[in-house]
Amino acid sequence: MKPSIDEMAAFCKRKGIIDKSGEIYGGLAGFWDFLFLGAELKQNLKSEWWNFHVRQRQDMTGIDGAIITSPDVWKASGHVANFNDVFIICKKCKKPSKIDKSELGKVKCDCGGEFNLDTAKDFELMFKTNVGEKDYAYLRPETAQLIFANFKTVFEGARMKLPCGIAQMGKAFRNEIAPRNFIFRCREFEQMEIEYFIKPKQKCPYEIPELEIKILSEGETKEKKMSIKQAFKDKIIKKDWHAYWLAQELLWFKSLGADTNNFRIRQHDKEELAHYSSDCWDLEYNFPFGWKELEGVADRSDYDLAQHEKFSKKNLKVLDEETNERFLPHVICEPSLGVERALLVFLYEAYTINDKENIILKLNPKLAPVKAAVFPIVKNQEYEKISEDIVKELRKRYNIEYDKSGSVGRRYARNDEIGTPFCITIDEQTPKDKTVTIRDRDTTEQKRIAIHEIPTILDKLIQGELLFKDL
Ligand code: ATP
Repeated sequence: MKPSIDEMAAFCKRKGIIDKSGEIYGGLAGFWDFLFLGAELKQNLKSEWWNFHVRQRQDMTGIDGAIITSPDVWKASGHVANFNDVFIICKKCKKPSKIDKSELGKVKCDCGGEFNLDTAKDFELMFKTNVGEKDYAYLRPETAQLIFANFKTVFEGARMKLPCGIAQMGKAFRNEIAPRNFIFRCREFEQMEIEYFIKPKQKCPYEIPELEIKILSEGETKEKKMSIKQAFKDKIIKKDWHAYWLAQELLWFKSLGADTNNFRIRQHDKEELAHYSSDCWDLEYNFPFGWKELEGVADRSDYDLAQHEKFSKKNLKVLDEETNERFLPHVICEPSLGVERALLVFLYEAYTINDKENIILKLNPKLAPVKAAVFPIVKNQEYEKISEDIVKELRKRYNIEYDKSGSVGRRYARNDEIGTPFCITIDEQTPKDKTVTIRDRDTTEQKRIAIHEIPTILDKLIQGELLFKDL
């Protein structure tokens, strides 16, 4: 049984992963602090995303833009005029909710109650702030626009060739009407976004992987399980690039241990589509509070670059070397994933209870906040000295826990609960033959290895280049 979202929030608080921001003052709705384990977990997740999507690809590069930028950026993008949700109150539970304009009159509150349509009003989502004495600006509501605003400089400076993408990871802020479900909907959050540019109509040169997933296409009420490749062949997914990127996104979750049965892709209905978009798919996850969006894969054509060209009066066109003509590249999709939502997925995927009713957080070692815990089996100066030397060496690369208090069983349990994949114990045999035991969190199996081999073995185990059973 997976924990409810409230149980997950309580677990994260208890273990020092996440807590309400400013909790000693009662917190502030929609704002969260990542604590000593949460900060490590989040950093690991972001660096795994960046490695997979940016560093490991020839066609990608990345930027890190400012949170506060010229308000003209948000005028050009349409956010100043249109970045609103509909604020509406439920007749039954009396709580406010946010809905999209396309959902007005069609959806009910999460409690099952009808919305009072008379209370519906537009609600501006961008936070405004002061700059200097008289000026104002916005906190960015998404990272994407900075990619468009910097597009030409980056494209030319990094000598990129189409098709190619520019990624950005960082904070975004939205004055959400109803922040809820722990870190699923926050007012301050982080996005990991890609704008992927092509020449208009350029085909995807990459193979679409054979990856099975539940697919909910437009107008259907039931999902079909099929491979993404087949869905493209059957024209359910209309664009090769969308099939390719949906598969990449799913592969990323899978590569970090997620079970793809808990995911589905859902096609947007016609009314949900932005006016510049001809097809859009969401990758969704089956949370205890229902299927919810993790990220969208939409076609944005040259809408954003054209808008920035118009407002900035700068030529943002690039040269087509074959025809020698200048043109605006099209964004064929923009995989845009919330860090907090991804983190919640991995917490749910990892959370398990063993037959002794203990929580074991089976996080992929690459994500685990603590990579290994080192224990002297009993209090003993010689064992402690060896342990400290091992810890010092391993800390050059990883976050390592040194734990010398309590029974060994208790220390294992403590580390299982926070997802530490490996525990290294220094025992009676260590001073004699310079070996230690290493224990695997998921099988509780233990093996003996030489002290001098620990860094290499641990590194391979974390990177998935060596399986514990093959040790
Ligand atoms: P939703 O419909 O859930 O409000 P959205 O369609 O407005 O999301 P996008 O503008 O497409 O979201 O943002 C891209 C991604 O950023 C989302 O898929 C999600 O992962 C993340 N995200 C958006 N809003 C929030 C939020 N308030 N809290 C946490 N993550 C968010």
